Formats: sequence, C-alpha cells, structure tokens
Amino acid sequence: MAKTASNRKKPTVLKRHPRSVVQRKNTTIPISVFGNVMKQFNAAARKLKLDKSLLEFIKMPRRSTIVKLPVRMDDGSYRMFTGYRVQHSIARGPAKGGIRYHPDVTLDEVQALASWMTWKCAVVNIPFGGGKGGIICDPQKLSEGELERLTRRYVADLIDLFGPDVDIPAPDVGTGPKVMSWFMDTYSMKDSRVIPGVVTGKPVTLGGSRGRPEATGRGVMISTREAAGHLGLDLSNSTASVQGFGNVGSVSALLLHELGVKFTHISDVTGAIYDPEGIDVQALAQHVKKTKSVVGFPDVKQIRPKDILYAKVDILIPAALENQITQANAHRVRCRIIAEGANGPTTPEADRILQRNGVMVIPDILCNAGGVTVSYFEWVQNRVGYFWTEEEVNRRLEEKMVAAFHDVLKMALDNRTSMRIGAFMVAITRVIDVVQMRGIYS
Ligand code: GLU
Repeated sequence: MAKTASNRKKPTVLKRHPRSVVQRKNTTIPISVFGNVMKQFNAAARKLKLDKSLLEFIKMPRRSTIVKLPVRMDDGSYRMFTGYRVQHSIARGPAKGGIRYHPDVTLDEVQALASWMTWKCAVVNIPFGGGKGGIICDPQKLSEGELERLTRRYVADLIDLFGPDVDIPAPDVGTGPKVMSWFMDTYSMKDSRVIPGVVTGKPVTLGGSRGRPEATGRGVMISTREAAGHLGLDLSNSTASVQGFGNVGSVSALLLHELGVKFTHISDVTGAIYDPEGIDVQALAQHVKKTKSVVGFPDVKQIRPKDILYAKVDILIPAALENQITQANAHRVRCRIIAEGANGPTTPEADRILQRNGVMVIPDILCNAGGVTVSYFEWVQNRVGYFWTEEEVNRRLEEKMVAAFHDVLKMALDNRTSMRIGAFMVAITRVIDVVQMRGIYS
C-alpha cells in the first residue's frame, strides 16, 4: 500500500533513551541535534526570503576538529579520550562558546551547540561568532589530577585554534571555573605571558567577571519576567518547575523565587521532589551543595523525574540537556511559559505542538544568552584590564537581555510566528548584514 500522511506510522520515542532516539518499526533512529538546528534555521530562513546562497554560506559549521587525547590515569595506565572543537561562524567576531565534558558528547551535538552559539550571540547583539567544544568523558568519574591532565592535553592539541581574537571557550555542562583556569594557564605557556582573554568563566582572581557564574540564570529570570509581563501573568502569584538543579536551574529558581514565584517541582539527575506549598529553594541549594542531590531534602514528596515536564505550573524551566520535550510528550506539557535554560531541550516537532496549545516558549538562544553576554563583558574587562562591580555587570546584562527579548518578541509578532523562529530571524538578519557588508572573498 502506498504511504499517505494518514496511514504513515508516527515515530514514537523509545522509553529507555527518550532524549536521543526515535523508533520507527524495528529500527532506532537517533534524533540529530544538528538536524534540529537545521530545521529551526530553515523555518526562519523561509520567512526571511533572503538570498539562498548567502543562507547556505552562514548555515553550516565552518570548521570541525576531532582529536584523540592520550591521558595518564592515576593508576599509571594511559587512556584515549575523544575531543571536539567546532567553529560554526566567525563572521561577526571570534568564535565563542563553551566546552562540554559529558559521556554522551558527539560531533553532531557539538556542531549543533556551536551553531546555536552563533545565533545566540547575534540575538543579544555581541560581536562574536559561534563555537563549541566537547570531550567524551564522565567528569564525576575522573580525579582532579586526571581532569587537569585531560584539559591541558585538549588545549595543547588544539592550541592553534584558540586565541582572544580567534576562538574563546567558556564553561558548559561538566566544566566550570577550575577547568577554565587550567585552560588559561596552558594557553598562556605558549607565549610565556598571561593571556586571560582566551577563555571566559574564569575565577574572579584570575580575571573572571563578577556575576559570570550567576549570569545564565539571571538571564533566564529576566526573560521569564519579560514574558510574564507580555502575557499578563503575575509572577508573585505563579508556580514553576525546574528540570536540572545545576548552576543554571538553581540560580534561575533562586532569582525567580525572589520575584515571588513558587517552585513546586524540582529535579536533577538523581531524582525529583514535589511540594504543593512551594519548595524552599535557598535551603535546597544548600542541601545540594552538601549532598550533590535534591533527593533526601526534608518534608517534600519524591516524584518520578520525568513527571517534572508535565507538572501543572505556570512556568517550566528545562535546564538539563537536549531533546527533553519531543513529539512524543509535548502534548502532556501543561505550563504557560517554557523558559529554556538548557540548549535544545525542545525539538522542532514539539515546538509545533506547544504553539498549537498556546504555550509560549522562550527559546534557548534568547533565554539562556545571559551567560555568553557576561562572557563578553569578561572579555572586554580583560582587554581593558579594569574590572566592573557586580552591580555594573548586572545592570548591563539587564539592558542587553531586555533589548534582545523585545527585538525577538517584535519580530515574532510582526511575522505571526513563534519566539523561536522570531529569534532565528533576528539572528540570521544580523549575521547576513555583516556578511553582505564584508563581502565573500572567493
Ligand atoms: N556554554 C554557555 C552557553 O551555552 C556559555 C558560553 C560562553 O559563555 O561562551 O551559552
């Protein structure tokens, strides 16, 4: 029988790996994260009606590098790790984006994350392109010495790719200020002088910016507050759930809690908790600092982690990994606003379902852009050698995030489209503008 739209079987998400695969008949097809970015880009490009060849030029990653990294382990043996660095665009400035340490890192994922960085930097209008790196490893299972040797070997192998005017890494999932310190130190050996601007997200004593660790969460708070204002939702009377109580999830929750938001559902990799009266997020952050888990927090109920996404709340903050809200479960989401603290938590198919159901999605490339915005401030402070107060950093971040939010909202409303496609339209327009002005050298 010929396949038609009505008899074609819809793919369903496999139970065991909901974030990464779809199943069709007996075969398992991974959801390509880079494929998701392509779909988002193409949908926005169709609306912009721009020169097709220019769109092709800005769409694909410009350079993808794979390295095998030998590392001496504490027991004296050697282990090979795989590392990646992708530079998606250097049209508006140096490539910019974090380095991820996670067992599931793939080239497909790093290419997607690098592309999102290009669009994210353009949305907040900072003079950077997009890049991303990753190493396949489980940082929880490596000693500090092993992590240091792995980081230094990664930098040494890729040293010619990096530089304050070329490609500037930062923290991402599984990395933080300590990894950035090793990065800066190893890179600085190259020229026998301190080069702080090669990496952002450093500790303040090494030239990091005040406010950088909280910046992504602060940006999530600002964009959620603006979205609530647009929808007429009173934050002091609203509820929220968070998937992922790491740096981004916890700071978003703490800052939104200060605006009166009641967090009823919170999860992390170890489990999920629920309290209809509202979880004391400050006390939970202390508990997690001590025990590394939300589980065991007193006077709350334990729930199944996946139910976090289906909580009946006003605001849902996915702040974990990609492909969480998919075609298979989007219809179960019951919130009014999704604030994407993570990169890529919602697939394009899920976006369509959410839009139909009237859920406002604040897309990752806007919602979590506070991190890279303060990375830009850090880079500026490193160039000048003069450091701002935390109030100054936060004031400038507020200004950037509010402007970006309203640029995107206007684009979405003017074109009767979603905030995601609106954000891509703003970003693509800004990148194309620069490419057209510079011209293509060929
Ligand atoms: N990894 C963060 C992101 O995905 C921060 C990148 C940066 O500061 O360069 O936006």
